[in-house]
Order: sequence, then structure tokens, then C-alpha cells
Amino acid sequence: MDLLTGLATVLPEGRVVSGEEELKRHEGGIFTYHAPVRPDAVVYPEGRDEVVETLRFANKHRIPIVPFGEGSSLEAHTIPVLGGISLDLGRMDRILEVRPEDFIARVQPGLTHMALNAALAEHGLLFPVDPGWDASLGGMAGTNASGTNAVKYGVMRDQVLGIEVVLADGTVMRTGGMSMKSSAGYNLTGLFVGSEGTLGVFTELILRLYPIPERIVAARAVFPDIEAAGRAAVAMIRTGMSIGRVELVDARTVGAVNAYKDTYYAVAPTLFLEFSGSAASVESDVEVAHNISAAEGCSAFDVEADEEAREKLWEARHEAALAIRDLYPGMGMMTTDVCVPISDLPQALRHARDTVESHSLDGTILGHVGDGNYHAVFPVDTEDEADQDRAEMVNAEIVDYALRRGGTCTGEHGIGVGKAGYLQKEHGDSLPFMRKIKRISDPNGIMNPGKIFSSE
Ligand SMILES: Cc1cc2nc3c(=O)[nH]c(=O)nc-3n(C[C@H](O)[C@H](O)[C@H](O)COP(=O)(O)OP(=O)(O)OC[C@H]3O[C@@H](n4cnc5c(N)ncnc54)[C@H](O)[C@@H]3O)c2cc1C
Repeated sequence: MDLLTGLATVLPEGRVVSGEEELKRHEGGIFTYHAPVRPDAVVYPEGRDEVVETLRFANKHRIPIVPFGEGSSLEAHTIPVLGGISLDLGRMDRILEVRPEDFIARVQPGLTHMALNAALAEHGLLFPVDPGWDASLGGMAGTNASGTNAVKYGVMRDQVLGIEVVLADGTVMRTGGMSMKSSAGYNLTGLFVGSEGTLGVFTELILRLYPIPERIVAARAVFPDIEAAGRAAVAMIRTGMSIGRVELVDARTVGAVNAYKDTYYAVAPTLFLEFSGSAASVESDVEVAHNISAAEGCSAFDVEADEEAREKLWEARHEAALAIRDLYPGMGMMTTDVCVPISDLPQALRHARDTVESHSLDGTILGHVGDGNYHAVFPVDTEDEADQDRAEMVNAEIVDYALRRGGTCTGEHGIGVGKAGYLQKEHGDSLPFMRKIKRISDPNGIMNPGKIFSSE
């Protein structure tokens, strides 16, 4: 029996697709330099029990399963490197429950963060994790995503209070719950968040919500060089002010954004900032941030209190990566993702800039610098092996620098295929333990094979 016929015996009609367009949508990434691989079939479950049936079938026949949200992850996470089934959770996109008084929402994994926030607005609530793509909450839990708000609210792992997950053999398991904290046993929720589809498939998430702050003000601070911008960001964090966002973009990124979004921001290293809280605290934080910026030679500090102007500014920041890609049509894009201890940030930014330039790459630097997390983004000719080797070399130099300082090879994008070698360098001593967990959860190795662990 072939795969499509077999799947049709366990799933209702219309769930299994294998048309050219669908296979293509699930073969690669939206923003990547990795080679695509076609799945053999795409399955769209419409409920938990259909996920269970699909996994039981795949486990019995040893067929690889790759959970798929919006496909926006950056390290080939959703590329079915060994073929098999791309399990697209896009039809499981309902909000199951919002409990405004408990600051909790229970959702299906295919819901996107923007759709959730649109529904939460009427309750005066927000869900803070905001990668620069309208990603699914299941995918965001898969990569332990973060974004511009992480400096204030934390990352995806801090927001997921509990999950319903289907294991490789079809077993359904619930972890965590509706309480804001728990000391009950091992933190399995935290283990599954960030597991990149290698341990199981989320079918429900219990998420933590927050009140929309009373006052929000954005600002743009323009600096003479990237290190000065980095030093100012670190100094702001050190004051303990309630900073909402601290995003750094270098001059090339601002140039790309201006071209892409038709904006007229000064083409120089810039901090995009946001302050949120009570009206009084925001006013005082803006003043402190202004003074810190001035001491680092800031040439312009523009405040945007108007909601529309603020939204435009953050839209420009969120689309910075797409703006950079737009400069290089037809090229793949490499995005490094290291995170260093905050005090190392200014020198680390300079190191990244120098590394990119020493390899004659046309690269840009940007990042969520409030957390010490920054990206070098540059084009890669995916048809040219030498160009790919050069890109890998730059990535390796930037990662080695971060690891020497006790940082990490990935602050938010995850390991996937692209960073598997660096996981060995970063966590060589705990990797055998991770492999044991993988074997317990998925003895037949069907869940997203080839990801996280380099030799699988
Ligand atoms: C322009 C751009 C900007 C970005 N900016 C950021 C950023 O600022 N911060 C950031 O963190 N990321 C960023 N990303 C990366 C990306 O948006 C995140 O990695 C996001 O978490 C992926 O979500 P997704 O729905 O696209 O998941 P997918 O890419 O579909 O999947 C991601 C991983 O999760 C697994 N998975 C998906 N659904 C499930 C499920 N239901 N159960 C179990 N596993 C599952 C997949 O197998 C895969 O390993 C950006 C990407 C782009 C293209």
C-alpha cells in the first residue's frame, strides 16, 4: 500500500494532499539558504484525534513526520530532509478559551500571534511574543521564539503554562496547567517548548497574557557607530528602567528599510526603543534614555507617542529582514543568531561587523540587543559552494566569539539543521542526555529527523 492510500485509510477525506503547489509550500523555508526537499504527502489534521491517527500510522510504518506551522523558521526546521509527511497544523487555529480575569488563553497550535492579539484587544490584553513574521503559536513554541518584546516579557518558554502534546506513538499527554506557577515534578512543558517538533506535536497551548500598558511611547536614537548604540542599550538596561523594547539596526539595515518601506529614517546606527507602563514612569524613563543616548554621542532622539507613528516604526523594524532580502533578489539569506552576556554586547557587535567586512560580505547587523541577541544577515548564492562555505565560515567565527564569552549559538531561532554542529560545541556534555530523552519519546526516530542532532 502506498503512503497516500495508507493515510486515506486512517483519516477523513480532504486531509491528505499531494498536489504540486502544496508539496512546494512545504519543501523549504520562507527565508533561508537551505536546499529544499519535497515531502511525500502533506496532512492537514482538523483535530487532536486526527493528529493521533496520523502519528500512529507513521510510527507503525516508520515514516518521518515534520510538524509545520507557518514555515517561517530559519534553520531548515520544517524541511523534510528524509521525505515523509509534512503535518500542517494550519487548520487547527481556534482560540479555545480566553480567561481575562486569569490572564490565560487556551489555543490550538495553528493560530498565529497576530490573530490571537486581534482577539485579545477587546479584553485590554496582549500576548507579547512577536517574531518578525506572523508565525503560528505552535511553531513559536517549537523554536522557543522571541522577538522585540522579550526584553520586557521574556521568551515563548516563559509564556507557555501548559501543553497538550501527542507523542510519536500517538499517546496524548498534558503538562502544566492553568496556574501561573507550579513545582509539581519535572518541567516537561519547558522541555517540549523548543523541541523543534522532534519530541511530539502540540495540539493545545495554555498561554500567559498581560494587560496592555497604560502608556506606550516609542523613540528612535541615532548614533555615530554601532558600539556607541550598543553601549547606550546596555546602560539603559542597567538603570533597571521598565524598557519595553531595545532594537538595534545598523546603517545598512536602515537604508534597506527606507527603500522597502518608503521611510526616511537617518541612515546611521539606530536604536528603536519603546517605553511602557504608567504615564509617570514612561515620562521619566524617556528622559533617562535620552540622557544616556546623548552621553554616547546620539545625534537625534525622536519620540513617537502617536499610535499610528509607533506602529509604522515597529512595522519597519519587524520587516527589516525582508527589506534586506529585497536588496538581493534570487539569493538565499543567512541569519546568524548569537546571544552574549549583555556587558559583552558593544564589543560583540563590533566583532560581528569586522567579521562580515573581513570576508568582503555585504552584510547587515541588527538585533534584540536588550537581551544581548543580534543577527548578521547576508546574502548567500545557494548555487555557489564557495559562497556557501564563506557564509558558514562567517557564521562559525561569530558563534565561536559568542561561545568563548559564555553565550549561545542561537538566542531565538533554534538549531534545526543549520546550527546542529554548534550545539555539539555549546552543549557537548549534555547532548548525550538530550539524545536519551529523544530516544525515550520517539524510539523509532520519526519526529522531525535530522534536526537538532547532527548525526541522525
Ligand atoms: C522575516 C522573519 C523574521 C523573523 N523574526 C524572528 C524573531 O524576531 N524572533 C524569532 O524568534 N524568530 C523569528 N523568525 C523565525 C520564525 O518566525 C520563528 O522561528 C517562528 O517560531 C516559527 O513559527 P512557524 O509557525 O513559522 O513555525 P514553523 O517554521 O512551521 O515550525 C517551527 C518548528 O516548530 C515545529 N512545530 C511547528 N508546529 C508544531 C506543533 N504544533 N507541535 C510541535 N512542533 C511544531 C516545526 O517542526 C519546526 O521545527 C523570523 C522569521 C522571518 C521569516
